[in-house]
Amino acid sequence: MNGYSFDYDSGDLCLDFANTMSNHAGDHPEENLKGYTDLIAWGEGAGLVTPESAARLFDRSVALPEDAERIYGAAIQVREALYHIFSNRYAGRTIPGPDLEVLNSLVQEAMGHLRLTPADGEFRWEWLPGIQEANLILWSVARAAAELLTSDHVLRVRECEDDRGCGYLFIDQSKNHSRRWCSMESCGNRAKARRHYSKNQGDRPDN
Ligand SMILES: [Zn+2]
Repeated sequence: MNGYSFDYDSGDLCLDFANTMSNHAGDHPEENLKGYTDLIAWGEGAGLVTPESAARLFDRSVALPEDAERIYGAAIQVREALYHIFSNRYAGRTIPGPDLEVLNSLVQEAMGHLRLTPADGEFRWEWLPGIQEANLILWSVARAAAELLTSDHVLRVRECEDDRGCGYLFIDQSKNHSRRWCSMESCGNRAKARRHYSKNQGDRPDN
């Protein structure tokens, strides 16, 4: 674990996962999922695995390092695919085919391990018993992405407008749908300060 404190405030699990890379759109992105143990820590923070399961998964990764490496590799691949899909969609660009393929194959894998079960007169999805919990993290992310992409909420997915490449994805839940930055404290204030500066320089505000 690298001690990084993950952010779970984007409004959707799959965007939280995409946001595990800082400055995603910049020249110097910072990786916060540095290895398998970070992935498990992220899953625990997201409530997808219990602390007991997380401890078991850490032990398992020591016993089966190749397995852990494979899952970590898949995690990074789908994280990047998610970022590209939502970022391009927001910018009105074409969704790269290979990224959609990565997501689709994980969605298919996830669906193969789900079943419908009756609950209080209704039905809900349930994971098949006995599945590897590390897979559960990625499958839950894939399922969340599939649900978001096929719902109206996808129209509210934004990318921080910071011009230094923050790249933070979030669901705009503001009343008038006008949220532009990951947070006012960081990128928002920086943009305002820059606008103020350029005004004082007699330039046209850069909006
Ligand atoms: Zn930002």
